[in-house]
Amino acid sequence: MKGLRARPAVERMEPYAPAESARAERPVRIKLDSNENPYGPSPRVLEALGEFSTYHHYPDPDQKELRRLIGGYASVDSDRLMVGNGSDELIDLLCRLYLEPGDEIIDCTPTFGMYRFSAELCGGELIEAARAEDWTVDMSAVRAALSPRTRMIFVATPNNPTGNMVSTETVYALLELGPLVVLDEAYVEFSGQESWCSRAVQYDRLVVLRTFSKWAGLAGLRVGYGVFPSSALQHLWKIKPPFNVNLAAEAAVRASLEDLVLLQSRVHCIVAERERMAAGLGSIDGLRVWPSLANFLLVGTPPGRAAELKAHLAGSDIAVRAYNHPRLADAIRITVGRSEDTDAVVRSLEQWAEERSGLGGKRPSGRQSGIR
Ligand code: PMP
Repeated sequence: MKGLRARPAVERMEPYAPAESARAERPVRIKLDSNENPYGPSPRVLEALGEFSTYHHYPDPDQKELRRLIGGYASVDSDRLMVGNGSDELIDLLCRLYLEPGDEIIDCTPTFGMYRFSAELCGGELIEAARAEDWTVDMSAVRAALSPRTRMIFVATPNNPTGNMVSTETVYALLELGPLVVLDEAYVEFSGQESWCSRAVQYDRLVVLRTFSKWAGLAGLRVGYGVFPSSALQHLWKIKPPFNVNLAAEAAVRASLEDLVLLQSRVHCIVAERERMAAGLGSIDGLRVWPSLANFLLVGTPPGRAAELKAHLAGSDIAVRAYNHPRLADAIRITVGRSEDTDAVVRSLEQWAEERSGLGGKRPSGRQSGIR
């Protein structure tokens, strides 16, 4: 019997590859492969979810209260906001809004996989503009990737997995090219830099995406938002599934924004821990740590050793991310966790380095990471 045929775009596309631990049968002891917040949600979120009593109602499809609260947090007019089931959904809606089969998006690679996923699902083509050696966006590569079919240019800032931000001048240069520029600021709270959110309203070809998944620890409840040009919003409201953000997520946003001091102090701990982990890993022979303004570090391994490092860490029940992208063949990404997680990662990789240098598990004299 012949099976039903899917749309050609779907038959062609590769599935998205989430971190392996998301599908694991047994929880990993130290889960550092998904850029999650190790502290979880605010305790007020847990209380609010338990006390909320009208889960049998549908949420407000216009997201009025949510947009008012988020507008206050992000200093943006709530009329320019839309909230998604994670920022993933907003990437999907943008592709559905703008891409006809054969239309193109530009990705500044290596980068987050959902831009490709959502574009290809719509029959769009992904054109790669390779980042420079230091991972900065290469404007000459972006210009070379541009074609009459380019509809959007996606730039994550800080970029996942390289951790660096796009400069203001580059954003201006991108805006001059014509297609819609989508700045994905999923990790901006860890950067100490100003978001483009409040500036975005001045441009008719700029979208800024943000999320509660990382800084507020709500990844499992799925709340992202975007600042969009009015011309896009007019259609986005038509195509958004009416009840895309559920009432638990809405209650969690409300409670998180009432507990900003605590959540921001956790962000500061993660940032401090990032620097401590960078110093600890940077002193291990064979590893190269890229500077990061996000809640993860991209760590360069000796040639051909990324899978070995990942497996070594898995032996200590620590999950990290490795990649298929050729430019990341010799790299792993490690999410910044609590300080005991940093200690465990550094200890495990020191042990790997010692075994590799043939010292049979003994620390070379005179070299201490300073991280315990
Ligand atoms: N953008 C980037 C750059 C990300 O790394 C992620 C999550 N890994 C997302 C967006 C998706 O965030 P959300 O959980 O809001 O869908």
